[in-house]
Amino acid sequence: MIMETLSVLEDAMRELKDVNFALDQASIVAMTDQRGIITFVNERFCDISQYSKEELLGQNHRIVNSGHHPKAFFRDMWHAIANGKVWRGEIKNRAKDGSFYWMDTMIVPLLTEAGKPYRYVSFRNEITQRKLVEETLDTLIATMPDFVIFKDGEGRWLKANDATVRLFQLEDVAYAGLQDIELARVAQDAGQELLRFAAQDEPAWEARTPLRSEERLRQADGGIKIMAVTRVPVFHADGHRSGLVVLGHDVTEQRQTEEFLRRADKITAVAQLSSAIAHEIRNPLASVKWSLQLLEVGDEEGRQRIDTILSELDRIDSIVGEFMSLSKPRAADFRDHDVPALLQMIVSLMNVQAKRFGIHISVQTHGDIPHVLCDEGQMKQVFMNLLKNAIESMADGGDIQVGLYRQDPDHIVLRFSDEGSGIPEELMAKIGEPFVTTKEKGTGLGLMTCHHIIREHHGTLTIASVPEQGTTVEIILPVRPSRREQADEDLVV
Ligand code: FAD
Repeated sequence: MIMETLSVLEDAMRELKDVNFALDQASIVAMTDQRGIITFVNERFCDISQYSKEELLGQNHRIVNSGHHPKAFFRDMWHAIANGKVWRGEIKNRAKDGSFYWMDTMIVPLLTEAGKPYRYVSFRNEITQRKLVEETLDTLIATMPDFVIFKDGEGRWLKANDATVRLFQLEDVAYAGLQDIELARVAQDAGQELLRFAAQDEPAWEARTPLRSEERLRQADGGIKIMAVTRVPVFHADGHRSGLVVLGHDVTEQRQTEEFLRRADKITAVAQLSSAIAHEIRNPLASVKWSLQLLEVGDEEGRQRIDTILSELDRIDSIVGEFMSLSKPRAADFRDHDVPALLQMIVSLMNVQAKRFGIHISVQTHGDIPHVLCDEGQMKQVFMNLLKNAIESMADGGDIQVGLYRQDPDHIVLRFSDEGSGIPEELMAKIGEPFVTTKEKGTGLGLMTCHHIIREHHGTLTIASVPEQGTTVEIILPVRPSRREQADEDLVV
């Protein structure tokens, strides 16, 4: 009987030894008492921490504490295990030589019959390499200029990089764990934009494949950013939604350049055609006008009809005139000019017309404005066109302000601000193209001519407008346009 019992015990001991050996090989193991004092460590624990068994036994694990985790991290860990629960987590430790290593850790409390922990056993695997890759990836994602958002299968935000935080103004928002609708509530200003943007997630889920789109996002300053967005839905093996990655990069400049080239092409084509067409039209037009003026019409009604025809012919004549100016009938005569004086000349002229509509034009010159190498006639034409547009947009009168500044030693800025009807949003992208106009009787050629002239001077012309509040046209002119200036942005609106 005793022999039998001994044999059973021997078997049990051998089995336990085998289990211990297997565990020892498979995992990094340590054991503590209920106070956290280390009572056992295996070889692998010693290898990775670089401490000997003698150095570790009787110590607390804080001997390997790296200082990486916040206080709450270990408080929560202790709270779990002291209450008899198994704890899992990733811990960053410091080895004896000061190097760091990461452990995927499971701590199991061993409980008395009363359910009180009397010992804690930890099993771990080293995950340093994986964490290094993750950290590098995190840094890369955090600092990349493109925006990246990771969401879970229920649409909760998990992680977003710095570019996203800036884009949706989430600097002071704890977004992790929130769904778009909850985030929109706390994101205040950007909330509506965020919801509109997130509405595109569902089509990507339904398509079950990466979906690309181009989206316009309104910024806090009222500007628009055009984003090329890719949404990548990820599914579990059973087909359930696992996560969504939303990536996007800013293509605003690219699109503006394309738009500029498209428009520049159109302008060049119009300019080339206009000269020939203008001459073809103007000659017969002059004959028709002459003949009409010579027509002797006795009754009042007839005379009124002829006047109407003549005024329509004048309009055609002015369109043709503007076409001709585009075709550069004469080479631009670049000389040093006092731009404030040129401007003042045109303002005095236009003030006569402006006063009739209850409009006052004022000019403010800030600092010294250097002479600018430019074509006097063309500059005056630009000022005249812009002031004419401003006056015509202000049916109820008001103020037109023209500001002149020196931007830097090489550039001056002219800013024309009116309080008129503004340009509707749908027209803004096209304004400056031929025949795009807000006026009932306009041709759209005036502003196109301005663009053309400013481009010839290697300057830029920008339009900002708020419907029913007014329009501001800003011209930046190089003092010496002979130096090749970047004219690419002159059509940015
Ligand atoms: P501490 O003084 O330890 O306090 C941290 C928090 O834990 C406090 O809120 C405190 O009240 C609570 N706490 C501490 N001791 C107990 C206790 N006996 N009972 C209940 N609550 C308690 N730390 C590491 O840095 N790396 C490890 O790899 C690691 N492995 C561990 C393995 C096991 C099995 C156990 C039990 C603990 C382990 N720890 C480890 C935790 C370690 O003991 C320290 O708590 C931790 O390093 C924080 O040290 P500290 O001096 O900053 O704070």
